Amino acid sequence: MEFRDLKRQYKHNKAEIDKAIQSVLNSVNFIQGKQVRELEEELSDYVGVNHCITCANGTDALQLALMAWGVGVGDVVFVPDFTFFACGEVVAAVGAKPVFVDVDNDTYNIDVCKFERAVKDVIKKGDGVPKAVIAVDLFGQPADYHKIRQVADQYGLYILEDGAQGFGGALGDQRACSFGDISTTSFFPAKPLGCYGDGGAVFTNSDDWAKLIRSYAVHGKGESKYDNVYIGMNSRMDTLQAAVLLAKFPIFIQKELGESNRLAGYYTKYLEDIIKTPVIKEGYYSSWAQYTIQLRNGQDRKYLQKMLKENGIPSVVYYPKPMHRQTAFAEFMYDDLDYPVTNALCESVLSLPFHPYMTEEEVQIISERLKGCIL
Ligand SMILES: *Cc1c(COP(=O)(O)O)cnc(C)c1O
Repeated sequence: MEFRDLKRQYKHNKAEIDKAIQSVLNSVNFIQGKQVRELEEELSDYVGVNHCITCANGTDALQLALMAWGVGVGDVVFVPDFTFFACGEVVAAVGAKPVFVDVDNDTYNIDVCKFERAVKDVIKKGDGVPKAVIAVDLFGQPADYHKIRQVADQYGLYILEDGAQGFGGALGDQRACSFGDISTTSFFPAKPLGCYGDGGAVFTNSDDWAKLIRSYAVHGKGESKYDNVYIGMNSRMDTLQAAVLLAKFPIFIQKELGESNRLAGYYTKYLEDIIKTPVIKEGYYSSWAQYTIQLRNGQDRKYLQKMLKENGIPSVVYYPKPMHRQTAFAEFMYDDLDYPVTNALCESVLSLPFHPYMTEEEVQIISERLKGCIL
């Protein structure tokens, strides 16, 4: 059994995907082919924002957003402590300080009360200028943007929505990747909407930021190719990836999202009486980047993971280490006591095999095995 069966996905959709790739091979227009702009139009329409700028990966997408806002030395950006490394990495990469914030034990997203406390604390200590918050839609569920927006407005912070795992999700009738002043996503193969290599995108309603980001992503280009007006980077999405995404996107919205939600429902039905299953809050729609359960402690998790493995069932820990404990951030000297929830989650979470091409039977088998190990 595969944790996320991309081979099965390819087999199901081989004709469309092969055709899309072949058309790029025939045109040999590998860089900035017409598929790239076509994809940007489809994605911005779907998400409901004015601009989509594709780029090389989800990490660059985050960095491009910070660059557009001019975030740099002396600035502070608030980042959830329980997330993928890139969210903190980009902040430090532009010279600013990441201040990590503990998360909610049910949704795994940033704890908004603790976020506000962290902002006040930075202001009180005069420890840098609060500039932005990176709100992450972890495992597919959008963060609490109503509350995040209130705090951000009160303190004059930009919201950067990291929708790398959240593309396809929604809060009410508003889609993920539209909640930030700038929002980003990743098309890494295992994300909800994945390409066949690296890819990413930035979304915004701002004409000015969109223009800046388009320039930064192509060596800070000005009016023409060899006119460079900023120090930027080389972060284009290549045409092959855009073509793959154009082929996969309709399948994602017409079929995969619904299937993911149906299958997640099965898991929860089988498991909710014996273990802590994912909590999707009223009014939220998840794109199910992961199906993540919580064990009581590290010992229980280790045992369960071993038992599942013996039964041929893979499982993965997202994430084993809080951001504030990463060696790369050692210079910032965080207080471990500020992160009780994240510290506990890193010991207790476990993500189960999950993807829209699983069968109900597979979900049932995994659930039964898991029950057998726990009871
Ligand atoms: C995957 C991921 C990223 C980075 O995306 P890449 O395309 O791999 O650079 C950033 N943030 C989160 C939350 C992610 O899951």
